[in-house]
Amino acid sequence: MKVLVIGTGAREHAIVKALGADPDVDAVIVAPGNPGMDAIALCEALPGGLLDGAGIAALAGRHAVDLVVIGPEAPLVAGVADQVREAGFAVFGPSAEAARLEGSKSFAKDIMAAADVPTALARVCSTLDEVADALDALGAPHVVKDDGLAAGKGVVVTNDRDEALAHAQLCLAKEGGTVVIEEFLDGPEVSLFCLCDGSTVLPLAPAQDFKRVGDDDQGPNTGGMGAYSPLDWAPASMVDELVSRVAQPTVDEMARRGTPFVGVLYIGVAITSRGPRVIEFNARFGDPETQVVLARLQTPLGGLLKAAATGRLDGVGSLHWSEQHAVTVVVASHNYPGTPRTGDAITGVEDAADVPAAYVLHAGTARDKDGMLVSAGGRVLSVVALGESLTQARERVYEAVDHIELEGSHHRTDIALAAERNELHVG
Ligand code: AMP
Repeated sequence: MKVLVIGTGAREHAIVKALGADPDVDAVIVAPGNPGMDAIALCEALPGGLLDGAGIAALAGRHAVDLVVIGPEAPLVAGVADQVREAGFAVFGPSAEAARLEGSKSFAKDIMAAADVPTALARVCSTLDEVADALDALGAPHVVKDDGLAAGKGVVVTNDRDEALAHAQLCLAKEGGTVVIEEFLDGPEVSLFCLCDGSTVLPLAPAQDFKRVGDDDQGPNTGGMGAYSPLDWAPASMVDELVSRVAQPTVDEMARRGTPFVGVLYIGVAITSRGPRVIEFNARFGDPETQVVLARLQTPLGGLLKAAATGRLDGVGSLHWSEQHAVTVVVASHNYPGTPRTGDAITGVEDAADVPAAYVLHAGTARDKDGMLVSAGGRVLSVVALGESLTQARERVYEAVDHIELEGSHHRTDIALAAERNELHVG
């Protein structure tokens, strides 16, 4: 099997690495990829960018691939999966209609209501007066969400009513902008990826990610600063419950509407004292959780994604998982999640990868004119380590991170720390 992967981040690096370990995958092509993937895949340019469905279909044709895997949300929401599918390729990734589960929080709320999926109470607002009423009705802490895509940075959770109003105002100022005001959910958060083929749902192992930029969950939200899996503290029945109460009813509702969901349904959920409540849906693998989930997946990935893309997930059977613990820590550029500084030299990647059971996935990296590795984005590297225990995985991952030199960079030092101490992490 030949597979084309679309994307540039550490998530795609993790996917490419896992595909490379699948004995049925003969070749992996990635577009546009990043310098970390050079050695394990053929990196192709995407002159038309990630939203150029025709260009991606042409590339798939040139390499005669058997499967196209679309990593990021923007091309999915823009309908790239539809275009590539129409060109005759098997695609792992939802149609534009189905990707609205991520592209519009108000659409996701509609589907959840129709499918009786437990989620936070919410109001969709299109004026500041409506926002003010909703903030008062739902109370503090206030949760204000941009209705549309915002690269993980559209949500503000605050006790400060003025800050909540200011964020709402920013979202409303966008063309056609609406905001969703939600009830605050407490309890630990879980990310569960469910592979879907339009009707069958196959859950992967749950993970937990760390959204805030700083230790102790201080500072603004980011795309994600680290993750770990498995979640030893989670009840054994949790995954089954999330499939039966959330994923399957959602997939059934999408099929009933004639817009079947094919790809990863990513369920972000708070485990509250009243049971699970969905925080968000995404329509693709999450970054950085993918890095730890795929680190533990022993079932070959290519066959799984092909089965999902071709409506054959019911024949897959149960998945095999390593017993090991995986932790990933994101190394971010100076000033991230604000406008990141780029072009700084990165060294120490090889030394980091020499730490036992550790490796480095690239995200925002590039080569300068002399071929030196430099930063090229906000999240630069995702360092991963496996261990027999969470303690060992954490020790290894931080030993590896310590080898990385990138001026002005920062990372969290408390990824998976609460779980290691048997405390719950409430993000
Ligand atoms: P989202 O983009 O919807 O995942 O939100 C980003 C982050 O904001 C989540 O991972 C949570 O940490 C936080 N968040 C979102 N919705 C809520 C909520 N209703 N209650 C508490 N925290 C939330």
